[in-house]
Amino acid sequence: MPRYPIEQTRNIGIIAHIDAGKTTVSERVLFYTGISHKIGEVHEGDTVMDWMAQERERGITITAAATTCFWTPRKGREGEGREFWINIIDTPGHIDFTAEVQRSLRVLDGAVVVFDGVAGVEAQSETVWRQADGYKVPRVCFINKLDRMGANFEKGLESILQKLTKSAVAVQIPIGQEENFSGIIDLITQKAYKFEGDRGENVVETDIPPELREKAGEWRYKMLEQVAAEDHGLLGKFLEGKEITVEEIRQVLRKAVLQYKLVPVFCGSALKNKGVQLVLDAVCDYLPSPTDLPPTEGIDPKTNEKITRNPDDTEPFAALVFKIASDPFVGSLAYFRVYSGKLAKGSYVFNPLTGSGKEKERIGRILRMHANTRKEIDEVFSGDIAATVGLKKTGTGHTLCDETNQIIFEKPVFPEPVISIRIEPKTKADQEKLINALKKLTDEDPTFRVKEDQETGETIMSGMGELHLDILVDRMKREFSVEANVGKPQVAYKETICAAVEQEGKYIRQSGGRGQYGHVWIKIKPKERGTGFEFVNAIKGGAIPGEYIPAVEKGVKEAMAKGVLAGYPMVDMEITLYDGSFHEVDSSEMAFKIAGSMALQDGSKKAKPILLEPIMKIEATCPEEFFGDVLGDLNRRRGIIEETEERGNLKVIKCTSPLSEMFGYATSLRSLTQGRGTFTMEFGRYEKVPESITQEIVEGKRR
Ligand code: GDP
Repeated sequence: MPRYPIEQTRNIGIIAHIDAGKTTVSERVLFYTGISHKIGEVHEGDTVMDWMAQERERGITITAAATTCFWTPRKGREGEGREFWINIIDTPGHIDFTAEVQRSLRVLDGAVVVFDGVAGVEAQSETVWRQADGYKVPRVCFINKLDRMGANFEKGLESILQKLTKSAVAVQIPIGQEENFSGIIDLITQKAYKFEGDRGENVVETDIPPELREKAGEWRYKMLEQVAAEDHGLLGKFLEGKEITVEEIRQVLRKAVLQYKLVPVFCGSALKNKGVQLVLDAVCDYLPSPTDLPPTEGIDPKTNEKITRNPDDTEPFAALVFKIASDPFVGSLAYFRVYSGKLAKGSYVFNPLTGSGKEKERIGRILRMHANTRKEIDEVFSGDIAATVGLKKTGTGHTLCDETNQIIFEKPVFPEPVISIRIEPKTKADQEKLINALKKLTDEDPTFRVKEDQETGETIMSGMGELHLDILVDRMKREFSVEANVGKPQVAYKETICAAVEQEGKYIRQSGGRGQYGHVWIKIKPKERGTGFEFVNAIKGGAIPGEYIPAVEKGVKEAMAKGVLAGYPMVDMEITLYDGSFHEVDSSEMAFKIAGSMALQDGSKKAKPILLEPIMKIEATCPEEFFGDVLGDLNRRRGIIEETEERGNLKVIKCTSPLSEMFGYATSLRSLTQGRGTFTMEFGRYEKVPESITQEIVEGKRR
């Protein structure tokens, strides 16, 4: 198969708050792109209607981490009639999976952000929006559900402007609203669009209805003002009142979107089949192709220097694996995005994070996922996304590259898990299945960790929230048929210190035969929250030979993992090894490791150790009449209220509260509000546990 033109490739995500309509929009996208593609292939003999009937029976689902579809934008565009190749990268729906959201944001080039036309900007849209800012993802917005009672395009737009970005610009307005919502006015083409046929598949272009001309004119003026401000030439024309062409607007708007200066806002109702095709046009018109973006940065593993790669098939191959998924048909499926070069099936690639130089990963098959089918392909090119099977050592976030031209793309940073549960297989047979399931699930999800409790030998799973772990336990049952007993969720506390100390560590045993001799002096110093662990070697004049220094670091790390207060891992500390002594015969790595570990433990106990707990950010929503009860309940949970606001006829409470107080909140909120309250919760930061509670935890009363 010949290479697809890269300028006609789009790697996009559809992102939204839960319930805003992401699934419905995605389903429509796959449906319309399916039709568009079939129309292009009428020679195959199947008519559009036949195909639609089949689709309706089967229903389209997005289950793949990346789905490829094809779209030929409406007439009147540059390069008219060209087909675009759109890879839709799945972004997970729940906030507990922020790591997955980040991972997908890393590989997509642009995004469609979907909003509920009644609720406007909701908590999670805000979080994901900020993350997309972090990864510099150009965006278009889609205000959905305009058919719903209470829907209001202007209010939706206003909330985007207020909460997310001043750069939002309406390029459409709805014709009618709520039950009268019947179509869309495009402010750029100055035409009205209706969506006819069973599923709105026929887009009919007409003139703007006379009664809406004035309103459309005012909106168009605002739009032109914003777009023209981004281009000197266009601004001149605008100020002189000259005619501005559709093509001019599109060009300037495209440039501004790619530079994160403007975010065009579209509208419609996915459920009522209105507007989605115009959003697909917008994806082609305004979102970047892989060549529109700056070169991708990575690190040369040999020199640790920054290097870049271009989406060019002639450059050496480099790709990022962004998701490992277990697939019922082929086993473990690794999705990757090619940043440079190309890859043919049957070839070998190198993984600089796991490879020793001798082992390479063989690319047995390359798969492309479509809505309902998967296709084997022979080759994948720069800028494209595909999946492969049978990789042995490669995990999420790893780079695959050419061995002679190595690169490591920045590994996404994943938040630490904040919650743990104990899990115990019901039978011996389950034991093995459990091990297998845990391995597969941790491979897939970097925010999911598993460890063994050193004292009890039990297995402990940690993740990002109660729901996250619930879903994983449920998947273990359903996908891996593991029967297990699951304990109560526990907070993943951490320990740290508040003061700096200097401490000696001596491990000397010299009584006959070969002895042990390790002797160190270390400085222990608190570091800023969230900055982790740092080990500094300040040994001068060979007080300790270089070969023993890594052993000291290892001992320090092992001691930190055990903690000194209540057995939780210590974080945010700088350890400087600055003095010590050694013995020609008796010194060994083991002795220095023990000395390091002893110094850390003894020192930390004097350095005012404290416990840290995860503080969550919560946004709870409920009808007015329950507001008092919900607020009171949050107060009892050590909640600190930051803001309350009205959203439609609902009250919204934003607060922070320790995770330990939030267990079972879903049930509690449900019963307080007769099932009408909702909430989102995400990890905020680690903070000091109050004195009295620390005492209880240390004494084991709260564990
Ligand atoms: P997701 O959670 O973001 O994937 O949202 P879904 O697509 O599952 O939609 C959530 C609910 O909103 C479902 O009951 C949909 O039928 C409904 N929904 C989605 N789009 C629209 C729309 O345009 N209008 C109306 N009235 N309901 C919609």
